[in-house]
Amino acid sequence: MENCLFCKIVAGEIPSNKVYEDEDVFAFHDINPNAPVHVLVIPKPHIPSIAAVSGENIETVSRVLLAIPKIASSLGLDEGGYRVITNCGEDAGQTVHHLHFHILGGKKLPVSLG
Ligand code: 5GP
Ligand code: ZN
Repeated sequence: MENCLFCKIVAGEIPSNKVYEDEDVFAFHDINPNAPVHVLVIPKPHIPSIAAVSGENIETVSRVLLAIPKIASSLGLDEGGYRVITNCGEDAGQTVHHLHFHILGGKKLPVSLG
């Protein structure tokens, strides 16, 4: 997908601080962290948001979901726990239109989500 920031990160055209990679999944530290640990986990193929999850791409998405707890463990978050967020569309404040799951942890996070 041309002009997609996260596709460019997957392709290595834009540098990132990678924490995990497999055939379908890529994970890297957020450039503007909102918590001591703030990692983004994405499918390698371009999927615009969770609204675009379908029978066609569910296998890829399931591999992203399977990777999330493994990545959280590798980041030392098992004991304290963590939050997983995906923003979808304007009201949620989605700024990059390539599906991504935020993993946030390393501190007591604010309770309010909305
Ligand atoms: P959204 O607001 O779409 O849910 O999240 C997009 C996230 O991508 C934001 O937390 C933002 O800080 C992060 N981000 C935007 N541009 C870059 C970048 O070039 N590199 C990295 N590592 N993160 C980015
Ligand atoms: Zn993309």
